[in-house]
Amino acid sequence: MPDTIARAGAGSAAQLILELLPEPVLLVRGGEGETPEIAYANKAARDVFRLELTGAPLGAALRRPEVLEAIEAALATSTSTEVAFETIGVQPRYWRAFARPLETEPGMLNELVVVLRDETDARRTERMRADFLANASHELRTPLASLAGFVETLRTHAKDDPEARDKFLGIMAQQANRMARLVDDLLSLSRIELNEHIAPSGKVDLARTIQDVSDAIRPLTAEREVKISVRADANAGSVTGDRDQLVQVIQNLVDNAVKYTPRGGDVRVDLEFAINLEAARAPSRSGVSLSLLSPDASDGQSYVVLRVSDFGQGIARQHLPRLSERFYRVEGQRSGGTGLGLAIVKHIINRHRGGLTVESAEGEGTTFSVYLPRVVPQA
Ligand code: ADP
Repeated sequence: MPDTIARAGAGSAAQLILELLPEPVLLVRGGEGETPEIAYANKAARDVFRLELTGAPLGAALRRPEVLEAIEAALATSTSTEVAFETIGVQPRYWRAFARPLETEPGMLNELVVVLRDETDARRTERMRADFLANASHELRTPLASLAGFVETLRTHAKDDPEARDKFLGIMAQQANRMARLVDDLLSLSRIELNEHIAPSGKVDLARTIQDVSDAIRPLTAEREVKISVRADANAGSVTGDRDQLVQVIQNLVDNAVKYTPRGGDVRVDLEFAINLEAARAPSRSGVSLSLLSPDASDGQSYVVLRVSDFGQGIARQHLPRLSERFYRVEGQRSGGTGLGLAIVKHIINRHRGGLTVESAEGEGTTFSVYLPRVVPQA
């Protein structure tokens, strides 16, 4: 039947279906001693490989020698074949070609249907999964190795040394806490990702939430002698959200700001109203500004903007784009953190259809701004 497809007149149902398929499909024809040519290419194939309708040599579409060889062999022997290949462009793409011979009359030209599947996204997801597992294992292994080392020391050299024992037990407790924080953050991230596609439905008053978080963080700020000042625009309004998750966002950002502020310094939390996306994204201080997450534009949508600013060491420009990657930490900063805080922030905001920007100047400090769609008050 597919033999008739290639020759069918425009408008036949089979040809229409082929034309509409999102995957590239080719009908390849070969004669004895001739290079195979493309007898038919559906719209997806013509778009992807920039082909004319028919008659082009197969090499014009599939330039990889290993693919041409496999297809020529399949034509010569009238057998099925499958071959993976890569196209190199601005972005490399990974493909798999499935070639199936058509039943033809003896003495007729051999024909193959070649269906191409784009496997780039699957490859990328697979690589991300593998990288994530490797990173998570590495992060857990470091404190674990240190714990095992101290257990061994306590059993041998430090067995009868009470002073060393107390010191080592203190370090072991720290390492165990670090592992617990890592596991908590990993679980938290996986829970957030599980329901990231379901938009939250609660109504959250961010001004109150900020106040609650800054009250809860007081022991940390008192210890570091850092002052948090909150300024909330009375007209900022409420957002549609999941309160517990938004508490986590504010907590992670304020924790970071306090952590990277020198003793005795200030942290500012501002809540503002923005009439539209452009206003929500507008810079608030001097320095480099970069968007880490941006929602789709939505007409008439206003935003509530939460800014957390510190006046600490700042972050060098080259680190800014990678801040919200899992486990990314700026070299040389001994934060004791997990490197997951900003990844958690980004995923929560994404679920809330909001955005995240970072502004920083070295030696002057950093501002993280979160903007969330504002609940429109009922008239
Ligand atoms: P961590 O748990 O390490 O703080 P985050 O994901 O919250 O992980 O942050 C990633 C990295 O970004 C931090 O390790 C730190 O290097 C940098 N960073 C985050 N916030 C600030 C800030 N306010 N000032 C300076 N550096 C920051």
